[in-house]
Amino acid sequence: MAEDTVTMDKIVALCKRRGFIFPSSEIYGGLGSTYDFGHYGVLLKTNVKGEWWRSLLQQRDDVVALDSAILQHPRVWEASGHVGGFSDPMVDCKQCGQRFRADHLDQLACPNKPSKQPGEGPECELTEAREFNLMFETTVGPLKDSGSIAYLRPETAQGIFINFKNVLQFSRKKPPFGIAQIGKSFRNEITPGNFIFRTREFEQMEMEFFVPPAEADKWFEFWSTERQRWYTDLGIRPDHLQLRVHEQDELSHYSSGTSDIEYLFPIGWSELEGIANRGDFDLKQHTEFSGEKLEYFDQASGEKYVPHVIEPAAGADRATLAFLVDAYDEEEIEGDVRTVLRLHPRLSPVKVAVLPLVKKDGQPELAREAFESLRGLMTTEYDEGGSIGKRYRRQDEIGTPWCVTIDHDSIDDRTVTIRERDSLSQERVAIDDLPALLSAKLAAPWQSPKLG
Ligand code: ATP
Repeated sequence: MAEDTVTMDKIVALCKRRGFIFPSSEIYGGLGSTYDFGHYGVLLKTNVKGEWWRSLLQQRDDVVALDSAILQHPRVWEASGHVGGFSDPMVDCKQCGQRFRADHLDQLACPNKPSKQPGEGPECELTEAREFNLMFETTVGPLKDSGSIAYLRPETAQGIFINFKNVLQFSRKKPPFGIAQIGKSFRNEITPGNFIFRTREFEQMEMEFFVPPAEADKWFEFWSTERQRWYTDLGIRPDHLQLRVHEQDELSHYSSGTSDIEYLFPIGWSELEGIANRGDFDLKQHTEFSGEKLEYFDQASGEKYVPHVIEPAAGADRATLAFLVDAYDEEEIEGDVRTVLRLHPRLSPVKVAVLPLVKKDGQPELAREAFESLRGLMTTEYDEGGSIGKRYRRQDEIGTPWCVTIDHDSIDDRTVTIRERDSLSQERVAIDDLPALLSAKLAAPWQSPKLG
């Protein structure tokens, strides 16, 4: 595939056309940068999250799950540094009234024509940079006064730190061990955009890995490598992924080391996931602000210490976008352009589509039989409407790796055709072998055909 085949516009159009993702509140004219996930989008993102859980909870035995509340005590955000500290430097333009992130000016455009970088148009008049807090405020209870202010969480991580003691007590784990959580986070981003890359409401997949202080560097390296492997195992092309180590002056107040896993999106290399060495900052802050001692007592050595924390923090929506971009392909077949999502089969919203060639002669009944034998094993679709060519195109565009076609001969000999999405090869097999054959295909390793 030529590198420039995929553009953000093509991804947005495909997502709308095939019911993955729509602009939110569309019948009211939309609400900037908010999106709703349709059927295939839900299935795809659920698979992304499922693979994340699987890699931590099923393939390891040192990580436990948590689902903490979105609304937390306001003191949580004072302790974490978000009240006061969680802000981006912003500049306003006195001419057009727009607000821009001061550190992103070179990637942004002034809304006036001819469009230039903010500050570079003839009319632009930018203010000095000011700090702008990104947390959404709300009030809890019937009275709107300063005592009732709460925040929608801007990250899931703090919900993990404040539960450290609970988890330690009930999980029977000792450092090194991790607590993982997936959930919605909210940030009043000033410059959201690029589809679901940056939105104000998004899902995070975060893990806090608590380690003895002397092991922090080792685990930081480990998770930096491990998390890249997760993406490449799920089909992301390694040459589209890179690790960028933060410079000293880029580090957050809590971090003694951070690396970003970046993906080559159509907008250029951008952060997909951050891996941070947070030291003992968070547990110490919450100990100070809550008065609860958050530490680990090692009964074997009689030693008491505050664990250090390594945090791989990913975005479920951003990862979903990266998988979509990496999978998008167009190829010319007999004069027609075929659009196809070459997703890893484990991520594909639908694994197999069962298609009778015609809607008569007993074919729908036999196709239904095949469908019933598969649906308990994997996400299966039955589709009998429209020409077979159109039905194949539809499945290609939603990334279905296998189509099973029932034809005239199937009625006589109970054989069917399996069509492969990527190679377009066709294989004739016994209908009764489908469950075992397709389960084996789904379990087999997979590599993007775009790697050549
Ligand atoms: P950025 O520099 O892009 O603003 P960040 O460094 O503030 O991101 P983190 O706080 O490290 O992001 O959050 C971890 C992950 O959560 C990010 O790598 C990204 O995948 C996801 N994420 C953060 N902000 C957003 C957002 N506004 N929309 C979608 N995903 C987001």
